[in-house]
Amino acid sequence: MALEDYEFAAQYCVRCSLCKWLPIDFVRSWRYAKNCPAIARYDFHAYSGGGRVVAANSLLQGRGEITEELMEVIFRCQLCGACQTTCHLITELVDPLEIARELKFRCVEEGKEQPELAAARKELVRHGNSQGRSQSARRNWARGLAVKDANRTKVDVLFFAGCKLSFDESLWPVVRGSVELLHKAGVSVGILGREEPCCGGRFFDMGYRKELSRCAKTLLKKTKACGATTLVTPCACCYGTFKQSYPMAGHDLAGVEVLHISELLDRLIAQRKLRPRKKVPMRVTYHDPCRLGRLGEEYEPWEGEYIKKLGVVCVSEPQKPLRRGTEGVFEPPRNILRSIPGVELVEMERIKEYAWCCGAGGGVPQAYPDFAAWTACERLEEARSTGCEALITACPWCETSFKEAAGENGENGMGILDIVELLRRAL
Ligand code: SF4
Ligand code: SF4
Repeated sequence: MALEDYEFAAQYCVRCSLCKWLPIDFVRSWRYAKNCPAIARYDFHAYSGGGRVVAANSLLQGRGEITEELMEVIFRCQLCGACQTTCHLITELVDPLEIARELKFRCVEEGKEQPELAAARKELVRHGNSQGRSQSARRNWARGLAVKDANRTKVDVLFFAGCKLSFDESLWPVVRGSVELLHKAGVSVGILGREEPCCGGRFFDMGYRKELSRCAKTLLKKTKACGATTLVTPCACCYGTFKQSYPMAGHDLAGVEVLHISELLDRLIAQRKLRPRKKVPMRVTYHDPCRLGRLGEEYEPWEGEYIKKLGVVCVSEPQKPLRRGTEGVFEPPRNILRSIPGVELVEMERIKEYAWCCGAGGGVPQAYPDFAAWTACERLEEARSTGCEALITACPWCETSFKEAAGENGENGMGILDIVELLRRAL
């Protein structure tokens, strides 16, 4: 796709501003009624999903060009998808999220790169991962675990750790814990170790389309070679990349079931292969990672046409799939929490497809760390308002974003944990 492919439909943005708010029937308070971090922080229409659509229209109609000011707007967006979820409540025509992403691609294609993101891309090219580390250390997290080498042996289940969990030692309890829980349930897994590529998703969201394709081709080849029928990952970002960004960019993991670790653990608990028996007395709230939740739903490519009726009404034929984020992974993590004796789940106001972003997407932490931290702090405050003792998530990027923001603000009263770590305490 290209920005031009969205031109016709983009003109049907009616500037209703629904992309800035939760739907009215989900609003519980004024304080937590907004859904888009960019417009909430910068309070100017251009920063909203609809504002990005207007900017795209201006560029496409030759009424404007990519200036430094416009770049500031374009890259201050986590690509969290909240705008699209609410926009699609009224129309399937306008895709503010896809347009926001295409604007980033357009900047890069015109050589107008955001400097911090350009540096991050160079590191990916140099090292093959998003963490700027030598790939030779990529297998270290698995030391001592009985995992198969999927580069040499056929495996049914390929465990994809992802860059963040592979290299960030503080997160190793999550990635090692995931494998240990699977072993406990009798599921044997293979890993690619130092041959595991970056999924490419974070670079796709920074505006680097080609980088995603390079990573996807490598992973598809390796997955096919090891014969895996299931690809499981504990990283919500990698999961969303496999579910949406790969098919969006024309890469097909056909025949391979993609699972987030929370989906597989939920299944194993339902099958009684894992039995959380130890009491973990804790009041918790759960943060839906964008790329596991609303952006974790299956991407259905659409090929059709827009038809004008009665001169003004526009419809898509066949009807475009309505991506409202409702088919994401919402219940499996909650089922796990409910299965742990002693755990009490208290929900925040913005949940599931209307969850507030953690701040870590779209290259925002590299380019605008203050904006990323502000976004995370907003969520921490919302979590604290539930009276919970711990904020549980299912993504290493969310966990890091929250911990960094909590550290900076001295909010040490509330625990921040991955769901895998919590489940391990019950077994
Ligand atoms: S992008 Fe959608 S929700 Fe936002 S102003 Fe336009 S039509 Fe309304
Ligand atoms: S993707 Fe998220 S941050 Fe970007 S405009 Fe939409 S709601 Fe706002």
